[in-house]
Amino acid sequence: MHEKSWKGALCSGKCPKCRKGDIFKTSLFDLSGFWKMNNNCTQCGVSFEPEPGFYFGAMFVSYALSVALFATIGIALYVLGNPADWVYLLSIVGGAILFTPFSFRYSRILFLYFFGGIHYDPAAG
Ligand SMILES: [Zn+2]
Repeated sequence: MHEKSWKGALCSGKCPKCRKGDIFKTSLFDLSGFWKMNNNCTQCGVSFEPEPGFYFGAMFVSYALSVALFATIGIALYVLGNPADWVYLLSIVGGAILFTPFSFRYSRILFLYFFGGIHYDPAAG
């Protein structure tokens, strides 16, 4: 099997250690469980929660992603013709709802990759 780069592994939500196991149990688009994480990697067994409460800090990443999204929507609408205020409001609320599974998962994935202290081990898994 071809070896993934860390960016590819990050984007597809794979384990930072072996880049094979999935961090989350279901697909991003599974609305009945997109937030469910595996406790350990299904391939190499590394813990996805290095310490209790580890993902508390992921809230800040999630917040930053959301702010970036709102700014993008706001600027896009302005460029597209600066519609009425309610269009901004609906677009941002709608965007936030659609974006929730994405920001929830990627904030945790990013946090695990950058603060989890887990290093890639090609021999793992
Ligand atoms: Zn793994």
